Order: sequence, then C-alpha cells, then structure tokens
Amino acid sequence: MVVERIIVLAKTYPELSSKHGPLVCVAGVNEYKEWRRLYPIPLKIWINEKYEDIRFRKWDKIEVEVSEKPPPHDRRSESRRVINWKNIRVVGHIKDWETRLAVIKELLDPDIESIINSGRSLGVIKPAKVLDFFSKPRHRLRDEAEKEVLKKMDEADSTVTLLEYLEIGDKYLLPEVREPDVKVEELPWIGYKFYCGNPRCRGHEMMVIDWEAQELFRKYRTVEGPVKQKLFNELVFKRDLYFIVGNTWKYHKSFMIIGLFYPPKGTVPVKPLVPIFKDKPKQKTLFDILQQR
Ligand SMILES: [Zn+2]
Repeated sequence: MVVERIIVLAKTYPELSSKHGPLVCVAGVNEYKEWRRLYPIPLKIWINEKYEDIRFRKWDKIEVEVSEKPPPHDRRSESRRVINWKNIRVVGHIKDWETRLAVIKELLDPDIESIINSGRSLGVIKPAKVLDFFSKPRHRLRDEAEKEVLKKMDEADSTVTLLEYLEIGDKYLLPEVREPDVKVEELPWIGYKFYCGNPRCRGHEMMVIDWEAQELFRKYRTVEGPVKQKLFNELVFKRDLYFIVGNTWKYHKSFMIIGLFYPPKGTVPVKPLVPIFKDKPKQKTLFDILQQR
C-alpha cells in the first residue's frame, strides 16, 4: 500500500457494481505527474451526510491509500485500487483557472491517436474542431463467450470482483443490484463529434460520462435546448474546451470523455511558485548501493 496525493480531474456519473453498489470513476494525476484511475469510490460519499468531509470535488487535492500496482484483471497501468475510501483526505484545492490550465498543459496529449499508441488508458486533449453535441441510442451486445470469460475471471479472484472494474459501465454484464435509496440509471449516449489535433484525424464520436454533463442531460432528457446551449454553444464558443479521456476495461482502444475542462477563452496558464509536480525518486540500483560503500 502507498499513500498518493492526487489532483482530481474527472468524476464520472455513477454506475452500478455488484459488490459496492453505485460507483463513481475518479481520475486524476499524482504528484509525479502520473495518471491515476481510482476505484472503488462509492457514490454514497456524495449522498450520505456521514461522509461530508471527504466529499471531494474536481480540482481538489486528495490523499488516498492505494495499491502499488493495478488490481488483478485490470491491465490499464494507471488503475489503482483504493484500500479504504473512508480514509480519503481532502488536503487542498486548485481554485483559479490559470493554475488549472498550467496543470492541464503539463499533461496535454497532442491527439487521441497518440494516447492510444502510448498504451496509456487516460489522457487529455484539446479538440481541433468540435462539430456537434448529440445523443444516439446505445447498443450493447451480450456475447456468450465474453460472459463466460468474465465469469471465470470473477471466480478466480473472490476478494476483488471483476464487476468492480466495470466502472465505466456495462450494465448488462452486471447482476441486478438495487440500492434501496439510490436510483442509478443506465447512462444514455450523449457525446461530441470532433476532430482531435492529429492532421490526419478522421473524426471521433465520443460518449461523455462526465458527472455534470450527464446530470444536466438527465434533468432535461433531451440534448436540444439548455443542454446543447451549455455543453456546445457555451463550452465550444465561449470557453476553451479540453477533453479528459479514458478507455474502458474491456476495449482498450475505445475511449470515452470522462471529464470536461473549460477555462474561459484567453486564460493564460500560470505555474504556482511551488512546482505542481516533482521528479519521482529513482529506485536505487546495485551500482548506487556499491557507490555508497
Ligand atoms: Zn483524431
């Protein structure tokens, strides 16, 4: 176990898991500028008054006890299992857009294709052109062979169920779970059509599972009107829009927008006096040890 200090950059709309009830996918970056995906993070943190003091927001700095490596069955190297979410501590908050932008600039990827090629499961891009914000029916396939694999993996590890890892959500793979007081609905497909920064980009249609965006859609049930006004007209034309993207556990090349970052147009990044990130201490090699003698 290690304690990591994470700047929270994305929080997704809650989806069901069999073991913990509704979960929120949280992504961010640690002090060594390494991307992190944290789970399980239960929705009850934001619902139950008992947990008010750990109710962290985007751009909070949190301290969290995590596993040193990704959990079994999750090959995404940025994933970490949260040892005890009740021990999460909020230790700071980045308030101004200038500093936030400085953080994002340090992490910025040139395009979607380079994130995929890097093998990373999280990244951030500034789309070159956003064409539309729209909704479409969400089709899901229940493949028998796939279910069989999932079942076997589930049996292989009884302490950490596979179902926890489906934080991006595939409801059909989950057994029916109902929390008495929390109703979590299947996420509708809402998302952006855009070109990323790659000159040879052929365009992307990417689903948005960002908590705020999904919540806004849930309120109006249509992308037309206030939803499009806010998520397209305002964020695309009055702000500088960045997409924080993450892939799914099952399909490593399938990315979704897990967070939106939208500083006012013209924001200039300002690095704080104390550097945001630091170099990771190097592990001692045999040579170092011999040198010390
Ligand atoms: Zn592209």
